[in-house]
Amino acid sequence: MPVDTLTLTADRVLRPDGSLRPGAVSVAGGQIIALAEEAPADAVYLPGILAPGFVDLQLNGGIGIDLGATDVNSFQRVLARQPAAGVTSVLATFVSCPIERLFAAFDVARQVTSRPADVGARLVGVHVEGPFLAPAWRGAHEPSFLRAPDRRLIADLVEGCGDLFAIMTLAPELPAADECISALVDAGVVAAIGHSGADAATAEHAADLGARLVTHLFNAQIGLHHRRPGIVGQALTDPRLTVSIIADLEHVAPVAVRLAFRCKPGGVALITDAVAAAGLAPGRHTMPDGEVVVVEGEPPRRPDGTLAGSGLSLDQAVRNAVAVGVPVADALLAASTVPATVLGRTDIGQIAPGAHADLVWLDADLRPIQVWIAGTLILPNGRLPY
Ligand code: ZN
Repeated sequence: MPVDTLTLTADRVLRPDGSLRPGAVSVAGGQIIALAEEAPADAVYLPGILAPGFVDLQLNGGIGIDLGATDVNSFQRVLARQPAAGVTSVLATFVSCPIERLFAAFDVARQVTSRPADVGARLVGVHVEGPFLAPAWRGAHEPSFLRAPDRRLIADLVEGCGDLFAIMTLAPELPAADECISALVDAGVVAAIGHSGADAATAEHAADLGARLVTHLFNAQIGLHHRRPGIVGQALTDPRLTVSIIADLEHVAPVAVRLAFRCKPGGVALITDAVAAAGLAPGRHTMPDGEVVVVEGEPPRRPDGTLAGSGLSLDQAVRNAVAVGVPVADALLAASTVPATVLGRTDIGQIAPGAHADLVWLDADLRPIQVWIAGTLILPNGRLPY
């Protein structure tokens, strides 16, 4: 082993196969270099669980900052908050907006990735949610920003934003959605379906074309009906589709969380969908995309009561899933390995030799105690560094 090797050992180490058992993880040069059953004498013992750092596929912002409409410093402040929730990799999510603003947001994201690694989570890409959404299912998206699907915009994003463009959520029933899904798949971008009134056959057809993700299952789509099963019915029974879910127990009821996990072993990704209002004090706030009302212990809402994303943290999502009956290992996988796999990445979201040494140590109640990013300890004394 290299001389600068750090070995961490715990009674429950989450393996890529989903097992939780004693193990020892050796880290050097920012990477995991070994995963062994037995710990060497100089290993650091961690009482609790050692899991891969969490991966959030859908983070809009927090502490008053919208990642799709901000500057580099503010963007990094949001990333710096993530390790406190065990999150080490993030997909910034840009919602429907004017096209120039979308490209400007990508420019900021590009600058963030080109800066040296800081104390914050990795920015591993951008999830473009909209503007090709069904108006009737737009949720909190501004209706005037919605557009008909246009593969030229996708070509421009692929051309201008390169590898940062990781996921696009669109409504598959809209005209020209098929060619957009195909264009995304051809470009190596994950095609996700959501904010949609599609029926099951349309969702199945989208999966035939290569769509692989359903965005916030149950929200902003037709509910499960036995004669009109919609996206939900297709997603729960189609192994090609991974589903993301906002497990704050407000966007979805406990039984819906259980249903998703029971139907799709290894196919559920926990997301926060946290918005700029996440982490703000209770009250009415003016956000770049409109007014938001924050009430203690509840998700942010528009003044008319519409849910406006969430104030959820990913560690709370894991605890919520476990609280409603999801096995601990399955909940941890849903916050790490499953979302990384959606992105086609094996260098994050798993404890395996060759992956980045992005790790979270959790106590028995699944609260993060410490986090490592590229082998560097984050959160001195378990607190944010500012
Ligand atoms: Zn949404």
